[in-house]
Amino acid sequence: MNALTQMATALTRGEIEVVDLTHTLDPDFPVIILPPEFGQCARFRMEEVSAYDHRGPAWKWHNISMSEHTGTHFDAPVHWVSGRNVANGAVDEIPAEAFIGPVCVIDCSEGAAQDDDFELTPEIIAEWEATNGRIPENTWVLMRTDWSKRRGADYLNMREDGPHSPGPTPEAIRLLVEERGIRGFGTETVGTDAGQGMHYAPPYPAHYILHGNGRYGLQCLTGLDQLPATGAMLICPPLKIRNGTGSPLRVLALVPKGAS
Ligand code: MN
Repeated sequence: MNALTQMATALTRGEIEVVDLTHTLDPDFPVIILPPEFGQCARFRMEEVSAYDHRGPAWKWHNISMSEHTGTHFDAPVHWVSGRNVANGAVDEIPAEAFIGPVCVIDCSEGAAQDDDFELTPEIIAEWEATNGRIPENTWVLMRTDWSKRRGADYLNMREDGPHSPGPTPEAIRLLVEERGIRGFGTETVGTDAGQGMHYAPPYPAHYILHGNGRYGLQCLTGLDQLPATGAMLICPPLKIRNGTGSPLRVLALVPKGAS
């Protein structure tokens, strides 16, 4: 049996669990809010075209609109100024093999429960590697914070000085990109960066360093508490939008049964 036949057998026998890491697209789901001098990200909108009625007697359908960065979504290198000249940096140009691959999950949920501005640091990565082994090249790395369990205003957690949510330090992202050669980085918050990420050098280091190096981002993920630290497979193909800087998408993880 080849590897794919083995996998198909395991799937049909229920030995592999399919975990959905996606929030439902809904007009109420919060989007990132930038300072008022900047253009803003649109929420999801849905308008009924017909519903088995005079507008279309046998069918129901909707027109939808949203930002490329609404809901659970993918960030392409061209999203950031540092990645504007990266080869194959738009969602329609990224090689398809980037959209399926192994994933490591770093559990920061305890720290994030105590500190809204919790930072993923090189020390935390070193601790994780002491238990789970070195992060392999070309993997996805997800930062679990359980932030996806927050509802309403607690999700963006806006204060007078802007949003407060956990994220990686510049040193942590540099380590993951430059020394581990990761494929991409994902979070449960509205961005790959901390809410206060504008205060780092460079500002928004995850966006700056990931995309400047041709790596990808995933945001607004949910269900990371259902994933093992290692051994799962991530499936995350964005929509094929010409020159698209990102896209809402369905993110799935294949997990060996009993592994999480
Ligand atoms: Mn984005």
